[in-house]
Amino acid sequence: MKANDIHEVVRILRQEAPKWKTPAVTIVAEDKRNPFYVLVSCILSLRTKDETTGAAFRRLVKRARTPQELRRISADELARIIYPVGFYNRKAVQLRDIARDLIERFGGRTPDSIEDLLTLKGVGRKTANLVVTLGHRKPGICVDTHVHRICNRWGYVKTSAPDKTEFALRKKLPQEYWIEINDLLVTYGQNLCAPISPKCSQCRIEPYCKKIGVNKHR
Ligand code: SF4
Repeated sequence: MKANDIHEVVRILRQEAPKWKTPAVTIVAEDKRNPFYVLVSCILSLRTKDETTGAAFRRLVKRARTPQELRRISADELARIIYPVGFYNRKAVQLRDIARDLIERFGGRTPDSIEDLLTLKGVGRKTANLVVTLGHRKPGICVDTHVHRICNRWGYVKTSAPDKTEFALRKKLPQEYWIEINDLLVTYGQNLCAPISPKCSQCRIEPYCKKIGVNKHR
């Protein structure tokens, strides 16, 4: 894909995205615009289906809308509330530790810088970028497995890991697209540009895509 093609590609992705379900983390963020909620829902969502994440998040916020309220819940009870998200016992402990750090180090606020967010237990670049972009509406690029895979298939970047893709996109992707690229490509990756056998015959981006690494497609 040529650098300038990105404008047309994003235009097509915007048209296609409403056909499919919005990722659970995005629904939470759009409903609340609350960085703490985005952080919590990101942690719940790891290794968990969207439906399960959404339901667990709604149960949790009935009990805890702030780090202080979350910290008052025991790890055992928290695990029961968020069950059956993946690794619910571990995530319960993680959420309590994060709540403590937010209270003790950030005055109960969820930080708006990647560097500060990365100091929280178990928070990686993907979650940190999502909190910055969706929660604080500040520039950042959240690169998960879908963004990494699809940008490499296009030939827009040539990288070996999501973190490297993030830095490559920060240099190349026009900033006006930074926040929405994750939403657009997660939806596209879940529904069309799948990890195995993508549906290239139905893909309106095909004329711009080099299909790098795609051996089999439908
Ligand atoms: S043409 Fe195929 S590989 Fe390329 S973006 Fe579309 S579905 Fe993905």
